[in-house]
Amino acid sequence: MFSRFCLTMAVGLFCLAGVGATASAADPAAASFSGEKAFEWLELQVDMGPRVPGSAANRELRDLILQTARDFGFLATTSCVMVKDPLGAEEIEICSVIVTVPAAGKPVADRLWLGAHFDTRPISDQDPDPARRGLPVPGANDGASGTAVLMHLMELMHQEAPPTEVNLLFLDGEDSGPAGDATGFCLGSKHLASGWQDFGSPLAGPMPRGLILLDMVGERGLEIPMEGYSLQYAPDWTHLIFERAAILGISALVAAPGRPIYDDHVPFLGAGIPAVDLIDFEYPQWHTTEDLPSACSANSLSEIGILVWDLIRNP
Ligand SMILES: [Zn+2]
Repeated sequence: MFSRFCLTMAVGLFCLAGVGATASAADPAAASFSGEKAFEWLELQVDMGPRVPGSAANRELRDLILQTARDFGFLATTSCVMVKDPLGAEEIEICSVIVTVPAAGKPVADRLWLGAHFDTRPISDQDPDPARRGLPVPGANDGASGTAVLMHLMELMHQEAPPTEVNLLFLDGEDSGPAGDATGFCLGSKHLASGWQDFGSPLAGPMPRGLILLDMVGERGLEIPMEGYSLQYAPDWTHLIFERAAILGISALVAAPGRPIYDDHVPFLGAGIPAVDLIDFEYPQWHTTEDLPSACSANSLSEIGILVWDLIRNP
């Protein structure tokens, strides 16, 4: 990008102006994050129906993620485990999907992990209407939003290979626990994190720069503080991300301490990996049947997508 800029511009000052600029600033053909395209991925998931672990819609989405990645030439594999359904008696299969996007050119011994859960909650136990609390959550924000951002980032990385390897963690079984009992939540991430360095693990390799987890990032009027566990156990990584957001003018990230939230980043923090959870937990439709696309916005997805795309491009 820089060399072409210099070759086509005879004035040396223009060359200097190109140094350090992002590709999107200098090259109109470069890939840039589109909130609208990400929102289409969000709507597509909700149209599939609730993606409850073990359901046909969950498998359909898992297959779509695998197929999309493979169509782009990326390595994509599943990490599956049988668990007892925390809300029932049967065994259910939890299958997370790991996509590996190779670095452009010479491999660098550095990589970035990006995660989101793609499953949705089997019950709407916070619904204001007691008659609807047994229904599954549609999961527009809680499930589809983070997954939608990752799907669109995968499209961008197909257009423009990242400078370091990027591993996308599409996590299953995040949201199937009884309220207030952490043992029933984050089943896919617990399985992956516990053996991530083991022989045969899709994540085996060098320690990543860090994990960025996207959960509930689609709400209208998005406001994300520094989640408590991220700030306590991965302070440098958390500050780096919030500082980058400030530089980029991303108003959705507010650099103030937030409450700790048990989410898919916690098992990875426990495994010694710097992990930050970008989550807006102040969502009135949380775990209700009203968690629908109408409660979300393309603009919120865009803010998060622009930030993560910048972190991918500029390690
Ligand atoms: Zn949830």
